[in-house]
Amino acid sequence: MRIVVSVDMEGIGGIVDRVQLIPGERLYQESRAYMVAEMKAVVRAAWEHGATEVVVNDSHDGMLNLAWSELADLPRGTQLISGTGKRLSMGQGLPGSAAIMFVGYHARAGTAQAVMDHTYSGDVHHLALNGQELGEVGLNAYVAGYYGVPVALVTGDQALVAEARALLPEVDCVITKEALSRRSALLPSPADLADRLAATTARAMDRLHAGTGPKPVTLTGPLELEVGFMTTQAADTACLMPGTRRVDGRTVAITTPTAEAAYFAFRALLVLGGGTPLY
Ligand SMILES: [Zn+2]
Repeated sequence: MRIVVSVDMEGIGGIVDRVQLIPGERLYQESRAYMVAEMKAVVRAAWEHGATEVVVNDSHDGMLNLAWSELADLPRGTQLISGTGKRLSMGQGLPGSAAIMFVGYHARAGTAQAVMDHTYSGDVHHLALNGQELGEVGLNAYVAGYYGVPVALVTGDQALVAEARALLPEVDCVITKEALSRRSALLPSPADLADRLAATTARAMDRLHAGTGPKPVTLTGPLELEVGFMTTQAADTACLMPGTRRVDGRTVAITTPTAEAAYFAFRALLVLGGGTPLY
């Protein structure tokens, strides 16, 4: 039973501000340690509850946050996907896996009281698939579903957990902090959070084994992907992609056959239209 643990950073307990999120910034190294601790709590619990292989996918920023050496005190068979340019990005490792766990994820762009809410980049106002507004949890859940893989665990602030439960009502979740604004949160004791991460991961694994865990979420094509950019200029260049339609000044749409194709189209549109600082 191979488990992929996709680890982002904005939803990790203890993290509330950009100075904690960007390599080289003042509090980054301290925050990276929080990220490592949460990753290890989830990975250890997955092994203790029946995983036969665990693949950790670094899913934040340049995806060079977790160090290979940090696997040294984890069970053998724990592997790390490190670095950028991965075809499936935050979902790398999905094909052939029994489940994916989203650790340290954050709410979609435009969410109130959500630490560092955004959707992939600073250029995205909103993202919708067949009219359903999605953030990173939703989009990656549908990519996982394309590969027949369920989402077994979601962790992040209370806004992220609410967003996840709206799409994935069966999923086990851990609230890592209570966001008070985009850049503040009420933080739990680290020991309390570590215990809840371990206990909830254990429960998610037990459900997978019992066959009572969440089912993959799937969409039948054709799928209408709509990307609302922050500026008309971003939409101008994104529209250079063949097959796109300009819905309005800021909004570009494209029809794709599958959720995976929608994911690739979304990321390609961001490359074309992107460039606005995220934080
Ligand atoms: Zn991130």
